Amino acid sequence: MNLTNYHSHTSFCDGHAPMEEFVIEAIHQGFASYGISSHAPLPFPTRWTMNKEEVSAYFEAFYRLKKKYQGEIDLYIGMEIDYLDEQSNPSIDYFQLLPLDYRIGSVHLLSDDKGEIVDIDCSKEKFKEKIYTYFHYDLKGVVLAYYSKLMSMVELGGFDFVGHADKIAFNASYYQPGVTEQDWYKKLLTGLFVLIAEKGLMMEINTKAYHKLGVFYPNEKHFSLINQLHIPVLVNSDAHYPALINDGRAEAFQALKSVGIEQVMELVAGKWCKSSIVI
Ligand SMILES: [Zn+2]
Ligand SMILES: [Zn+2]
Repeated sequence: MNLTNYHSHTSFCDGHAPMEEFVIEAIHQGFASYGISSHAPLPFPTRWTMNKEEVSAYFEAFYRLKKKYQGEIDLYIGMEIDYLDEQSNPSIDYFQLLPLDYRIGSVHLLSDDKGEIVDIDCSKEKFKEKIYTYFHYDLKGVVLAYYSKLMSMVELGGFDFVGHADKIAFNASYYQPGVTEQDWYKKLLTGLFVLIAEKGLMMEINTKAYHKLGVFYPNEKHFSLINQLHIPVLVNSDAHYPALINDGRAEAFQALKSVGIEQVMELVAGKWCKSSIVI
C-alpha cells in the first residue's frame, strides 16, 4: 500500500511531538517504513533547527526506538539539511560523516544585500512583508536567488532527494499572481528539474500543504515534466504532527498516476527501491 514517509519533524526541531509518537502512529496506521528527518543544525541557532549539541541525543533517541519497535516497522534516520552556502550544505564533511540513513536537501533561507539571513519559507503574508523589508520589492530577484541556491545544492549533491522543490511558487504567486506562468520562471524550474535528473537524484512530492493550501510541492502541473525526465519520486507528508503522517498521500498518488507515473521510491532493508503505486 506504499505506506511510507521519509520527511517528518519531531520535538528535536520544530515538530510538535516526541519522535516516539510519530513511530507509534506509523505502526498504528500500518506503515511499512518510516523516516525521521529533523532540521539539521545551521552555523547559528534557530527555533526550528537542532543545535549541533543535540545531534547525539537525536541519534540515541532514534536507536532506542529502532530497537524497541524492531519487527513492527522499518525505521530510518535522516535529516533535512539546508543549503545555506558553500560552507553549510548537505555535501560538507560534517553531514556526510554522520551515520544517517538518508539526507534531504532543502532551501529555506536567502540572504539580503547586507548579508542578513531571511527565512522565506513562511506564510504568504510574511513573505510579502519580507519582499518589501529585505529585498526592495524585487520578487524576481528573490525567486532567482532561490533557484540559484537549489541549483548549487543539486550541483554539490550529498543528499538523496530534493525537499519541496518549488515551494517558493506558492508565496511568489500570492505576491504576483501568474508569475509562475512567465517564461523566465518556467525556464528556471525546468533547468532545476533537468539538473536533478542529470545528477540521478530523487525528488519528493511534498503533501504538507495539500489540504490547507491545495498544492503539492512541486506543483502538480510539473508532474508530467518529472515523468518525462524519469526523475524517481517519493511521496512525503513533511509531518510536524503525528496525526498528519499520511496526509495527502492518496491524493498525490492519484495525481502521479494521472500523468503516467506508476512507481515511487521506498527504503527496503536500507536501500532505495522502486515500488508500484497501489491505490
Ligand atoms: Zn523544509
Ligand atoms: Zn520539513
